[in-house]
Amino acid sequence: MTRSFKIAAIAGDGIGKEVLPEGLKVLEAAARRFNIDLEFIHFEWASCDYYLKTGDMMPPDWKAQLSRMDAIYFGAVGWPATVPDHISLWGSLLKFRREFDQYINLRPVRLFEGVPCPLANRKPGDIDFYVVRENTEGEYTNLGGIMFPGTEREVVIQESVFSRHGTDRVLKYAFELAQSRARKHLTVATKSNGVAISMPWWDGRADAMALGYPDITVDKQHIDILCARFVLQPQRFDVVVASNLFGDILSDLGPACTGTIGLAPSGNLNPERSFPSLFEPVHGSAPDIAGKGIANPIAMIWSGAMMLGFLADAPDAPGGCREAHDAILAAIEQVLREGPRTGDLGGTATTVEMGDAIAGLLA
Ligand code: ATP
Ligand code: MG
Repeated sequence: MTRSFKIAAIAGDGIGKEVLPEGLKVLEAAARRFNIDLEFIHFEWASCDYYLKTGDMMPPDWKAQLSRMDAIYFGAVGWPATVPDHISLWGSLLKFRREFDQYINLRPVRLFEGVPCPLANRKPGDIDFYVVRENTEGEYTNLGGIMFPGTEREVVIQESVFSRHGTDRVLKYAFELAQSRARKHLTVATKSNGVAISMPWWDGRADAMALGYPDITVDKQHIDILCARFVLQPQRFDVVVASNLFGDILSDLGPACTGTIGLAPSGNLNPERSFPSLFEPVHGSAPDIAGKGIANPIAMIWSGAMMLGFLADAPDAPGGCREAHDAILAAIEQVLREGPRTGDLGGTATTVEMGDAIAGLLA
């Protein structure tokens, strides 16, 4: 009997509701063609609509419901006009990342043929790398406080947390990803000349890990020059690993160098598979274009391909998932070359027309 995969489909808010159906359409076409048993279970919660109805972003048993899934396919959350971002984000997405220990945030950065590149003289192939961001600790904590608030004597302390466990596991993931790639090159983002305790320590953990991967070329770069090189010499990069804050910055800068945020996918991964991993576009709910049917669905569709790629590596995965991943990417490439194109790519196509074109190539 072939194994089936149960996928939670969560649209969320804004253009999440428009791009998710296109992602599902493409995944369903790929599943038919490659004979993969995908079962989608739809959830209305983790959305601001649900919050406005119930006063909570999610039901109390959300974790039990989602723990039964093999993966979560997520649109976008947030509708700041009615629900403040700290409620919508902390009440859904950030809970998933923490409670499901999705400690890797993986973001591919690639320049496609047919996509106008904001950097001069870049051609497809010059930009093709991954940003691996630590997703659970580092600079993003709520440890600290304010003394003498509101007075001239005000003192603010904000702690960062780097555990050996948390650092080693993200480095290990990045080294292994680099090993799976042709160039076998890893850039480690650091700031050991300024952040005097945690960053030299982070460098030391990377050096220790490198001993186990003699075939990987390791290049430690300070975050400031690293940002400049993303723009000036993007061809230098293959896999880039960074702490939570540095990774956050790099993973927005990367897609900005390759044309439009409407293409950028991401995976929030629990590589051990003790909990479901979550796949979502990098972009948010885009209130400015929501409801118009003009959002680019490719970030959502590519995130779906990443999900199949992740499932393909599961120990008991049926055949077909890797082939489906490759076929979806090939279809995305073809549509970017030949059209149709949404507005962010300089065209006039609708979200549905783009989704139909990509799904059509998989039939
Ligand atoms: P968040 O804080 O949730 O990341 P944000 O404020 O960064 O949200 P986004 O929702 O990502 O904003 O939108 C940023 C800009 O990019 C907006 O102008 C939006 O219209 C545009 N944009 C985002 N996603 C898409 C898409 N899929 N297609 C076309 N344009 C998009
Ligand atoms: Mg944003």
